[in-house]
Amino acid sequence: MTIRVAIAGARGRMGSTAAAAITEAPDMEFVGALDYKYDGWYINEGTLIEKAHGVRVYTSLAELYQAHQPDVLLDLTDPEAVFPNAQKAIALGIRPVIGTSGLTLEEINQLQLLCEQKGIACILAPNFSIGAVLMMKFAAQAAHYLGDVEIIEMHHDRKLDAPSGTAVKTADMISSVRTPHLQGHPDEQVNAYGARGADVQGMKIHSVRLPGLLAHQQVLLGGEGELLSIRHDSFDRKSFMPGVLLSIRESVRHQDFVNGLEQLI
Ligand code: NAP
Repeated sequence: MTIRVAIAGARGRMGSTAAAAITEAPDMEFVGALDYKYDGWYINEGTLIEKAHGVRVYTSLAELYQAHQPDVLLDLTDPEAVFPNAQKAIALGIRPVIGTSGLTLEEINQLQLLCEQKGIACILAPNFSIGAVLMMKFAAQAAHYLGDVEIIEMHHDRKLDAPSGTAVKTADMISSVRTPHLQGHPDEQVNAYGARGADVQGMKIHSVRLPGLLAHQQVLLGGEGELLSIRHDSFDRKSFMPGVLLSIRESVRHQDFVNGLEQLI
């Protein structure tokens, strides 16, 4: 069976890389691009053109659905667009595969409920890199024994949201295996706002944004007289593509909401 894939965000850095990977996959077809502008234009080998050649751009998911019946909507847009896109997709019976970060916990719960009502899958993957998912799994495994944890996530300076979805997911995974407790000195005095990072599930997350970076994370686990550092680096957006293709394939095998690629590998 050929999986028919629509992409929201196909003009973007991740979306254009994913469009190329999907076009090359023998079991998938890139059938339509969902955008908020350029309605009626075409995407041809990564370039946006007005000539009717390539994959058509739609600003309405309902129209895209009517013309191409996609099985999956891959979302690589921004924190404002992702929730309404996924809601509309589920209502039309299109499985959302979401790589966009910035969904709130409430929005995630709502999408889960909508999937249950409709009986279709939605795959939410804060990080499509297999190496990054292993880094999160190893960190959760290590936190059984070394429960004092801080996370440093580092991304390119075009990233809109902080902390990263991967860092929040890592904190969630760690919090499910460790006993909640106060970290650091109880009388700690912070003299510059934000110096100790964001508090997520009792762990500090520090977000670095610099040109030259892509997506990197280090989990530091401290114990008496020792430190374990678990680090992952994505140097190229191609590192996310095996996870993108895996998520698309799994979305047509599932009928439920899957939160995290770690549920699939
Ligand atoms: P990007 O280059 O800015 O691409 C986002 C694209 O989405 C842009 O072309 C943007 O258009 C478009 N867009 C905005 N609103 C839209 C809407 N309503 N409908 C359709 N398209 C819309 O960003 P990126 O680096 O590719 O990242 C995209 C998302 O993926 C981010 O949330 C990022 O954090 C996430 N990400 C996830 C992973 C993962 O492994 N899960 C890895 C890397 C990045 P304009 O430029 O005109 O606004």
